[in-house]
Amino acid sequence: MERLNNFSSILTSVPYEAKDRFGTPLYLYDEKLIVEKCQALLEMPNAFGITVRYAMKANSNGALLRLVYSQGLSMDASSLNEVKRAHLAGIPFDRIILTTQEVPEDDERADLEQMMLKGLLYNVSSLRQLHLVGGFAGAHGIRMSIRIHPGIGSGESASRNTGDNYSCFGVHLSDLDKAIGYAHKNGVTFSQVHTHIGSGGDPEAWRQNIDLELGIVERHFPDAVSISFGGGLKEARMPDESSADIMSLGNYAKAQIESFYHRSDRKLKMEIEPGNFIFANSGYAVTKIIDKKTTGGEGYNFIVANGGLEVNARPLMYGSRHPFYVISKTGDLLYSDFRDTGAPPAYKAVIVGKCCESGDSQCLDNDAVNTPRSLAEPEVGDILLIGGVGAYCSSMAPFNYNSHVQIPEVLYTRDGKLRLIRKKQSLEQIVENEILD
Ligand SMILES: *Cc1c(COP(=O)(O)O)cnc(C)c1O
Repeated sequence: MERLNNFSSILTSVPYEAKDRFGTPLYLYDEKLIVEKCQALLEMPNAFGITVRYAMKANSNGALLRLVYSQGLSMDASSLNEVKRAHLAGIPFDRIILTTQEVPEDDERADLEQMMLKGLLYNVSSLRQLHLVGGFAGAHGIRMSIRIHPGIGSGESASRNTGDNYSCFGVHLSDLDKAIGYAHKNGVTFSQVHTHIGSGGDPEAWRQNIDLELGIVERHFPDAVSISFGGGLKEARMPDESSADIMSLGNYAKAQIESFYHRSDRKLKMEIEPGNFIFANSGYAVTKIIDKKTTGGEGYNFIVANGGLEVNARPLMYGSRHPFYVISKTGDLLYSDFRDTGAPPAYKAVIVGKCCESGDSQCLDNDAVNTPRSLAEPEVGDILLIGGVGAYCSSMAPFNYNSHVQIPEVLYTRDGKLRLIRKKQSLEQIVENEILD
């Protein structure tokens, strides 16, 4: 039995067994790979220590949060509810940073203040947020982080670039004086400076950002003891892509932080916040082929799987490509994008889901146009496995569209067991909050 690809520790027989035990569609996660990724990140070269925070919006299942926390990672939450979710999974507030677009008003502000008293690090991301929380933080001597909008960005697609001028995340450099002025007046100390320039993982943009951010710390933030470079470490999903070289990025950061120390006599700790890098390749969607159609001589072959955009919306949102695998009804691997078998098969098809929506396709390009892919022609009843869906799929899918239920999540553990970590949603759960009369 062979492994599914060069990243995975999952054998072909595992999705087949998962299908029999839990039904399709389901998400299947590879515990061994998640653990390896966490360890590799913790071992990144650094000058005066490194904190690795898992960006939990990538996949927020509590069992997975516990797993990465047990490996020594802290958390990066993107909403107050994510902080609460991490805490429900057993993670203490003082291991969580909150970076959010929300503004803490009324009850939410009271909630936030309680959590800040228990150690939650608040990453100020706008002047308005600073005005709402700064007074409280100053009065209680609670130190905060500030997210700076550096004016450079990196995204695999425009919609994932968070540092360019057209994206709105963080306090823009042009507002820095206002933020610092307010902080002085209200006794606010910024112990950390933060940027997150996007999920493209362009190493050049990452390096540029390190230099820029260190310059900002040097000029404006005398109290900062820590510098966060955010997430955006690229993880290759397809055989023709390449992942971020974390050793080389770590070495660069280390050298720059050391030279900062020699200039300023300040030892900065470094933080990173990967999401995608840890989880992208750890997840597979196990779906079943339920139909095949064509649109004639000039048209396409279509393969209909029982999980589509409500399971993996990334092709529609970003034009992302994901690896495909076909496993026969008897458990044989008939096709893998990772198998090097010479010329690609002549058969080409577009893989679609069961939503009434023309964008429900796993084969969309950046302009959301269907682009057929080569694969071995499957039969109805075969398994279609979609790889690279560990991050930003389960947590981001529009799963109740067409009243399809949220699908179960299964962890393939290091000791070779299949463990259900989220049950399938029921129809009753979909309608439970409706008020009929
Ligand atoms: C989304 C996000 C991350 C993680 O990005 P990845 O591309 O998944 O590594 C890190 N930090 C912040 C503030 C984010 O919003």
